Amino acid sequence: MKTPVVIAIDGTSASGKSTNAKLVAQALGFVYVDTGAMYRTLAWHCLKTGVNVDDLQAVAAACRRWKTELVCVDQQVRLRVGGYYPEKEIRTAETSAAVPRVAAIPKVREWMKKTQRSCVKFGPLVMEGRDIGTHVFPETDFKFYLDALPDERARRRAAEGVQENLAERDQRDSQRAAAPLMIALGATVINNSKMTSAETSSRLIAEIQKRLATVEKHGL
Ligand code: C5P
Repeated sequence: MKTPVVIAIDGTSASGKSTNAKLVAQALGFVYVDTGAMYRTLAWHCLKTGVNVDDLQAVAAACRRWKTELVCVDQQVRLRVGGYYPEKEIRTAETSAAVPRVAAIPKVREWMKKTQRSCVKFGPLVMEGRDIGTHVFPETDFKFYLDALPDERARRRAAEGVQENLAERDQRDSQRAAAPLMIALGATVINNSKMTSAETSSRLIAEIQKRLATVEKHGL
């Protein structure tokens, strides 16, 4: 069986990955996967169950033991814990501060990679994160990296009503040893500081359609 197409969209925090990945998925009829939400869910689970997020072994053990399932609802993948989908809880400032700590743990990243790769069972994907083009689906021909100037990214977060230290989170994500945030080889880089999401998503869709046409003609 042919493996479904995976569109990898990586980039810095508040660079518009979620908004644009959703728009692209809708336009193409693909399934949207927010891998940041999966790391956030683990951080939330640790905070809720009293696991110290700076204790590597305790977090790895929690990740080994937690009872999760992946479901696809309205063309979006959700990670449920004990049958529950924590949608709002994972967006708090407390979870945002904890998540790069759990995300730096190699055992956690192994679990996430396996789980994220298994999402192809839902069909062709638009998957956004930090390491999709570099580690989760390095074989895909569809790699994008979004970025925007720090002031613009801080402005976007503030407009969502979220105050957080984006620079610190990006620094942790870029400097960790395991699968750090970086531009994948062959990725198309889009700095969208001066672009609307309609402009960014149109550019992504045009690029993807061009490549899909080539793949259809010549194969992967
Ligand atoms: O995308 P979002 O800002 O929700 O991601 C939250 C955090 O999850 C990131 O700052 C990063 O620490 C971690 N993450 C990651 N790898 C991914 C997606 C997210 O390390 N593929």
